[in-house]
Amino acid sequence: MKKLLKYLAGFKAESILAPLFKFLEACFELIVPLVVSAIIDNGITGGRGASYVGWMCALLVALGAVGLVSAVFAQYFAAKAAAGFAKELRHDLFAKMQSLSYAEIDGLGTSRMITRMTSDVNQVQNGVNMVLRLFMRSPVIVFGAMICAFMIDALAGGIFAAAIAVLCVIIFGILLLTIPMYRKVQGNLDGITTYTREALTGARVIRAFCNEDKEIEAFNAKNAALKRSQTLAGRVSALMNPLTYAVINVAIILLIYTGAIKVEASVLTTGEVIALYNYMSQILVELIKLANLIITVTKSFACAGRLAEVLDMQSSLKRGSSERAEGMPYIKFDNVSMKYAADAGNALTSVSFTAERGDTIGVIGGTGSGKSTLVNLIPHFYDASEGGVYIDGINVNGYDDDAIRQKCGVVPQRAVLFNGTIAENLRWGKPDATDEELLEAVKEAQADDVIRAKRDGLNEMVEQGGLNFSGGQRQRLTIARALVRKPEILILDDSASALDYATDARLRQSLKELDYKPTVFIVSQRTSSIRNADKIIVLDHGAVAGIGTHEELLKNCPLYREIHYSQYEKEA
Ligand code: ADP
Ligand code: MG
Repeated sequence: MKKLLKYLAGFKAESILAPLFKFLEACFELIVPLVVSAIIDNGITGGRGASYVGWMCALLVALGAVGLVSAVFAQYFAAKAAAGFAKELRHDLFAKMQSLSYAEIDGLGTSRMITRMTSDVNQVQNGVNMVLRLFMRSPVIVFGAMICAFMIDALAGGIFAAAIAVLCVIIFGILLLTIPMYRKVQGNLDGITTYTREALTGARVIRAFCNEDKEIEAFNAKNAALKRSQTLAGRVSALMNPLTYAVINVAIILLIYTGAIKVEASVLTTGEVIALYNYMSQILVELIKLANLIITVTKSFACAGRLAEVLDMQSSLKRGSSERAEGMPYIKFDNVSMKYAADAGNALTSVSFTAERGDTIGVIGGTGSGKSTLVNLIPHFYDASEGGVYIDGINVNGYDDDAIRQKCGVVPQRAVLFNGTIAENLRWGKPDATDEELLEAVKEAQADDVIRAKRDGLNEMVEQGGLNFSGGQRQRLTIARALVRKPEILILDDSASALDYATDARLRQSLKELDYKPTVFIVSQRTSSIRNADKIIVLDHGAVAGIGTHEELLKNCPLYREIHYSQYEKEA
């Protein structure tokens, strides 16, 4: 929480004014019972007459009005400070998330990150707001009422002190009991959110496998668990009101009983007893508010801790020296091994190969053989666990991340397009690209028919996730996006998997004819897509099973032969 306090720094005035106005409001509220008592003692029983009562009533109205104005100011300042705090916090969180490496993003998980950005920030904002509004109000009223009671009568003060002590035990006892219960409720709710998200993103798959009933059943189980935990927490919390009201009423009975005796003995006046009664009813509400404040603050602390964790995260990507070794090939994998987590097995084991500028490198292997892992090491999305990846004689960890990613045009395995027009999506590759440049890249990616099929051409809207395009159309648009930049290194991670053979062949031909001659990595499961590559790397469970041209591999690499002939039985 301390770490997050700096986000309040820009709202110092508001953070001081809000509690100050609340303090004023509390003071005015504490004066009210005294005025009422004066009306009764001096005005009604004391015989000071109707005009005194009238003036005092006017004073009450004035106190109410001033209290109201202070309250409005306090709410305004508190809300302003809390909202501003949350804005700055969200800003930093978002910037942090953008700065993290793939490894941390994998570890955090999308759904958890969204919770951090939304409900955790909201909870902390709420906490800040409540603290600013209440910490100078509730304690002031509770203890102020007790002090006023002591000033009126020592015995009555004692009853107040006892009542407050018993109420505190009840309220905080129930809180202590229910906080873990509510935490469980929150956990169940998170579970439902995650599950719903998956069911929605996977809706097509669920339909395709007729798994709706199973999904509904699983959801119902989670839903029932949520209801159970909520009911239990609710039942315990429900004890709060009857118990506290019982205590307050017993205290009031005692006050009136002892008060009546003292009024008889002329130690106390009627007005004073009524003032005591009023104070007693004030403290209950404030104690409950105070208790709620404490719940909110504990929850906020938990959320703040999680947020601070994210803010403290550092990209784990290592930084190395940017010294250039002379006489190296353009790209060199030097005995590279890679594991995603310290306790995981190797996703790549001792991979070594080189590529010259302008080469086309094919990467082939079964699913999970490490193809994506291999190409993701080139733009330094991940660190190699052992060995080194060199571009132009410099280890990739020696480049500035921006510099190296500027060199690389990456087409990830999952074709992701963003909300916006096609042109906006393509300009991710190069923000200042002209329409002509975009159209050229589109043509090179064999996507001109996609643009032509759409009424608005380049300005056609892409819906969220690119759902208004087919898989193959999306793939070609993501290739175009990478080509707009005219990258030195083009990485196509299984990016032609949804294309028919003819389009795939035309795409490869057009990549070959690019005038800026990028070094191209083509990851594929089909030998037809890579058979013309200058070098083909065959991966098997993360290890290199063979490197060479199509013909060489057909001769020397049994795995490659098997993959190839399984796709071209006739030639066998
Ligand atoms: P391919 O692209 O050949 O299908 P990948 O390179 O994606 O294979 O995966 C290689 C291995 O690494 C697999 O066993 C996979 O489970 C693991 N792996 C891939 N991505 C991650 C990740 N982000 N976190 C942990 N393990 C991963
Ligand atoms: Mg892959």
